[in-house]
Amino acid sequence: MKFAFVDGIRQEATSGLRGSCPGCGSPTLAKCGVKRLHHWAHVSTAVCDRWWEPETERHRAWKNQFPAEWQEIRHLTTDGEVHIADVKTASGTIVEFQHSAISLHEKSSREAFYDPLVWIADGTRLKRDLPSFRQEITTTAPSAESRTRAWVGGQMAQ
Ligand SMILES: [Zn+2]
Repeated sequence: MKFAFVDGIRQEATSGLRGSCPGCGSPTLAKCGVKRLHHWAHVSTAVCDRWWEPETERHRAWKNQFPAEWQEIRHLTTDGEVHIADVKTASGTIVEFQHSAISLHEKSSREAFYDPLVWIADGTRLKRDLPSFRQEITTTAPSAESRTRAWVGGQMAQ
């Protein structure tokens, strides 16, 4: 995670800091190594949001296109599950940046939970991803039922 609470203030990871997880409240440790992005990790190995995946630079860069107060927004399901949305805009639209493949079931559960939801999918993970996405986008008619719309964007400037 990019943010944790330190003395009640939401902040980014800085070497040596301890905080608490905005998702579940359990203790977190700032991880500020050289290999991975600076981030917060639970002290225990537990992950409170089962939809969460380790952040890549690309993921963080996408998130940073939005104001900090829109990033990593905690949500609670009716049965007490915690989910942290990548971005929630002021008007309530959720934006999720997806790198790994997820099952259709998981995709549907997220879409049912986050509404409205916009997916930003990484088409560069596997060689065949981008052509597959292109194919899908150009051959699938926008559906009133699923409200599916898609745009193909260029590579993000680093
Ligand atoms: Zn947590």
